[in-house]
Amino acid sequence: MRRKIVAGNWKMNGSKDLSEKLVGYVRSEAGSLDNDVEVVIIPPVIYIKDVLEQARNVVSVGVQNVGQWQSGAYTGEVSAEMAKDAGCRYALVGHSERRQLFGETDEQVAEKVALVVSSGLTAIVCVGETLEEREAGQAEAVVAGQVRTGLSSVALGEWHNIVVAYEPVWAIGTGKTATSDDAQAMHAAIRDVLKGMGAPAEEISLLYGGSVKADNAAALFSEPDVDGGLIGGASLVAKEFMSICRSLPAGA
Ligand code: PEP
Repeated sequence: MRRKIVAGNWKMNGSKDLSEKLVGYVRSEAGSLDNDVEVVIIPPVIYIKDVLEQARNVVSVGVQNVGQWQSGAYTGEVSAEMAKDAGCRYALVGHSERRQLFGETDEQVAEKVALVVSSGLTAIVCVGETLEEREAGQAEAVVAGQVRTGLSSVALGEWHNIVVAYEPVWAIGTGKTATSDDAQAMHAAIRDVLKGMGAPAEEISLLYGGSVKADNAAALFSEPDVDGGLIGGASLVAKEFMSICRSLPAGA
């Protein structure tokens, strides 16, 4: 049985006030969800403590990025072990904004995944093609390459600490979303790649991300290989985020 997850990536948004009000609301609603979904909030690192206080173990907490080193003279960086120590359960790795704005490569993703997994966190590894790559018919090949290299450091017994988020770059923050059929096709392709890597592919949760909103979540989440979502903008609006969490079918 795969974990069903809806994770809200706040990116560089939020405040102490939002941490208190939004997470307090999400916690109070999450207790009554009847679809076994694990709700995760991924705030800017400076608000992790505030979010954890409100989350009270009903809602899980993640970190948006970790450094590719264990510790040392890397001003401004936060390690996977620190995130674990602070109370996080998840770490995003390889978000397209990290790849595009900070030049993160698949090789760096692999190094970070190794550190995340060895620290005891679950890595949510983001993959996805650009519009040019999709239009050139390269979407599956690009995503397959990101999965193979980005997850090349995962050992056989570590796959239970891996979640993959398929986020087409052209759909992130744009209001455009993949059709349910396209999302399903890519998720099935990712599962095949994972199988080819010797991973227990049927047990690995695959999330869809890219302009998921309350009004398109149910269709995307009804697909057999879509196990939940990674939500950006809509995770900053408490009621909309909870409505997305409720859209996951029970027993899927
Ligand atoms: C994201 O940041 O991972 C994301 C999917 O953003 P949005 O939902 O705003 O497209």
